[in-house]
Amino acid sequence: MFEQLSGKLSGVFEGLSKRGALSEADVTEAMREVRLAMLDADVALPVVREFVSQVRERAVGHEVLDSISPGQAVAKIVNDALIAALGGAGAVPLNLEAVPPVPVLMVGLQGSGKTTTSGKIALRLATRERKRVLLASLDTQRPAAQLQLAQLADQAGLRAQGLVVSLPIVAGQGPVEIARRALDVGRREGYDVVILDTAGRLSIDEALMAEVAEVRKVAQPAETLLVVDAMTGQDAVNTAKAFNEAVGITGVVMSRMDGDARGGAALSMRAITGAPIKLTGSGEKLDALEEFHPERVAGRILGLGDIAGLVERASDTLDQEESERVARKMMAGKFDLDDYASQIRQIGKMGSISSILNMLPGMGKLTQALGGKELDTSILTRHQAIISSMTSKERKTPDIIKASRKKRIAAGSGTTVQDVNKLLKQFDDMSTMMKRINKMGLKGLMRGGGM
Ligand code: GDP
Repeated sequence: MFEQLSGKLSGVFEGLSKRGALSEADVTEAMREVRLAMLDADVALPVVREFVSQVRERAVGHEVLDSISPGQAVAKIVNDALIAALGGAGAVPLNLEAVPPVPVLMVGLQGSGKTTTSGKIALRLATRERKRVLLASLDTQRPAAQLQLAQLADQAGLRAQGLVVSLPIVAGQGPVEIARRALDVGRREGYDVVILDTAGRLSIDEALMAEVAEVRKVAQPAETLLVVDAMTGQDAVNTAKAFNEAVGITGVVMSRMDGDARGGAALSMRAITGAPIKLTGSGEKLDALEEFHPERVAGRILGLGDIAGLVERASDTLDQEESERVARKMMAGKFDLDDYASQIRQIGKMGSISSILNMLPGMGKLTQALGGKELDTSILTRHQAIISSMTSKERKTPDIIKASRKKRIAAGSGTTVQDVNKLLKQFDDMSTMMKRINKMGLKGLMRGGGM
């Protein structure tokens, strides 16, 4: 997501900052390129117009053109404008302040990711806040959707703990009746949140809107969250506009941010609907739900990276004690193959490698060069297999792994002796590098150009 836009905008600002002084004509030319880049990224035309005119107005002022690094000053203005377009600094949290059970209404087109997102939100509330969540499908046309919700609750292993439960189906009930029953059960059984997953249609129609509006009136939800598929670009914005006008929404969840959507929908949503993007979905798994931080997204678009997001993701997914234990062993020069296997597991938990790279400053270009393809991580999987075919003594003291052991390990892991050799060589290189780091300290090493 955003790779293409990011690549183009970074190019524009690189060009600007290479020049010492800027003229108004330079800014005009740069803004023309920004405009094209945004249109290419599928940002809605009125949003692009407003964006470019605001940036231009601020950028041709004397403080900017006369400043020491006008290119950077213009980039800062664009950064601010991006943040504003994305909804202003800071994530907007879900508003669940009402008296429990707090109703949350999920709306959107069929296939947008509504049911999955309902499950993701339930999981997050249950695991992070220990809230008890009742999930209710109002889709009377699609019993499969109701089953899907029940399965989601099971999958998360939370039903067993009574934290996430889906409302049993009663044949013949309509959406409004189900919503009433869900809230009744929620009250009687002491749930904190009741998530009402409405039916979707393949496209917007009046019957759907009337049904959703009716449910909203009855349920009086604290949040009416519209789920839109980021991959549908301009259509997502039109859908949001229609739902907001007919039903009224309090927030947007953009699903499929993991795809190669051009990102325009995210940039247009706030201006077109007035509602903030509150959450984003980045995968089919139930933990693939993120808060939406406009300033971080803007940073990513401009190639400034999202270090805050990376650190957050790391602290959410990594086992802190384990990381510290391995780091201590590294520093003591006692890193072994067990530790290496543990590192591979931790990397795997953080998600796709390219999504991690994207959060690092200046890495947007690299992932763009991959052309939307994932980095080849099969080598990590292979290494994991090889290490698990070793005896614990071999893992602790890889030096003892000679020809016959290599053959046995290769056979056990379904790899070749060359693969085993490659792993051992890489491990050897890593150990050498760590010893150097220990001797010189990280700074010394970077200065020496060793990394
Ligand atoms: P609904 O009809 O709106 O309830 O949509 P579903 O929740 O059933 O989702 C439709 C499909 O999209 C399913 O296969 C989901 O696994 C998938 N999906 C949902 N959210 C995401 C997401 O954030 N990323 C990806 N890649 N797939 C998603």
